[in-house]
Amino acid sequence: MPVASGQEGGCQCGAIRYRLLRAPAALYACHCRDCQKQSSSAFGLSMWVERDAIEFTGTEPRIFRTRGGSGAEKLCAFCGECGTRLYHAGGGTRAEGSTTLSMKAGTLDDTSVIEPTCHLWTSRAQPWLAPVLERDFCFEREPDSEETLRAQWRDAGGAGTR
Ligand SMILES: [Zn+2]
Ligand SMILES: [Zn+2]
Repeated sequence: MPVASGQEGGCQCGAIRYRLLRAPAALYACHCRDCQKQSSSAFGLSMWVERDAIEFTGTEPRIFRTRGGSGAEKLCAFCGECGTRLYHAGGGTRAEGSTTLSMKAGTLDDTSVIEPTCHLWTSRAQPWLAPVLERDFCFEREPDSEETLRAQWRDAGGAGTR
């Protein structure tokens, strides 16, 4: 089952909560060094949600500013209480001025619905992930346009539920 409208999530301490009003526009794993660092794991899980398709409640997130691979400024929102990274805005593969939030998919309450079908920066991926990468859609670095990722997610059936 894909991630659908109505699903909820939040930070580790619960100070920030959210609810999806529509299904995400893309969901992929990114194996770049920045994603490994921010997730303190082997890869980051990015779930694209339009700003008007998500409702936040609780405290305001704190913002850490950095630059994505493209050089564009990226805002990284995290809980000031527990430090959980919640989303990124700007930078990376999304077009300049895009209002799409790249939610960190592991913050969903029900993580059993997370299934990336696409992988970015596989040139930096851990070797033990090879069986998964052989099966899925991969970019050695990242695609030229955000539409590529949206189309891939639609084709994979991820955007089927609203
Ligand atoms: Zn928190
Ligand atoms: Zn990344």
